[in-house]
Amino acid sequence: MRQGKYLSEFKQKRYTSTLVRAIKQAAGSMPITLMEVCGTHTVAIYRYGINTLLPPSIEILAGPGCPVCVTPNEFIDRAITYSQKERFIIVTFGDMMKVPGSRSSLVREKGRGADIRIVYSALEALDIAAASSGQEVIFLAIGFETTAPTVAAAVQEAKKRHQGNFHILCEHKVLPPALRAIVEGGELRMQGLICPGHVSVVTGLRIYEFLAHDYGIPCVVAGFEPVDILKAIHLLVSMVISGEARVANEYSRVVLTEGNQRAQQLMQEVFEPCDATWRGLGTLPLSGLRLRPEYGEFDANRVFPVTIDPPREHPQCICGDVLRGTKRPTECPLFRGECTPETPVGACMVSSEGNCAAYYKYRVDK
Ligand code: SF4
Repeated sequence: MRQGKYLSEFKQKRYTSTLVRAIKQAAGSMPITLMEVCGTHTVAIYRYGINTLLPPSIEILAGPGCPVCVTPNEFIDRAITYSQKERFIIVTFGDMMKVPGSRSSLVREKGRGADIRIVYSALEALDIAAASSGQEVIFLAIGFETTAPTVAAAVQEAKKRHQGNFHILCEHKVLPPALRAIVEGGELRMQGLICPGHVSVVTGLRIYEFLAHDYGIPCVVAGFEPVDILKAIHLLVSMVISGEARVANEYSRVVLTEGNQRAQQLMQEVFEPCDATWRGLGTLPLSGLRLRPEYGEFDANRVFPVTIDPPREHPQCICGDVLRGTKRPTECPLFRGECTPETPVGACMVSSEGNCAAYYKYRVDK
């Protein structure tokens, strides 16, 4: 199928070859470690073989950019507990279904008869609530700054409609505290950041400035086509070599410097910052979002408090290390053996944007 104008241009070999040559020339033999924190970048890098085009001295690590992957077992256990109650309908994005919790998964509970439904947006969950009087609907609200505004809009709409049986189990997260934790953790030396295009559409560029100013780490917002990613890598490598640290936007056809201010306002109206737990990073101050008190009637945790057993992880799964960029999926003893996309042991093998799933699908060996 012929690709539309403005997209095919970003895949053309004559541009990618020129960029690869420019990267090699700029980098020389200096070892450079870059990180990306977006599941879509993870997949694009392996799908287009960008990792194989770069000189061996340039390493690109995948950080905690897959929202399903960073969601801790405790959240899944809590959702499963609700799903086992009479009159409760759990509504979720499809990626969450197969994520293993401590003792079960949503897909397993659905097989046992729980009413668990897949949607593409929070507004669909609101429609399910409208059609389900006498039942309680809980939408599993996960994701970064990209999805939080859409959930905020659904919550405001629920308030307007007085939809009292609509609730969210809120696990939204914001990226900057996770980036700070990785840099301050000191386990790896991130010299440049490929910033996530989707998150940046909402937030704009300002959220990355602390990395450049406080830690001297250059940041480049990138799109998802090969030319986008290679341009970002070239600019980052050039900045690392010259000792320059600033935030640049290589995705200006989509991302504005100030982001989407209406979406930011929506988030601020409905959510407030809270501490949040990340798989692999632990509990980070003010890295999550929770409903403001005026929207408390839609907060599943508040309206239907439940107690769950202490969460537990598979002892051999190294998802936490993979999400911090300190280990590769191929270092996991379960990778491609016990753990595959059909039989996932950890979250990073479930989501199509997970690092383990990308390694598996695109046969990455190192
Ligand atoms: S291969 Fe499976 S078990 Fe190993 S880290 Fe990835 S998700 Fe966890």
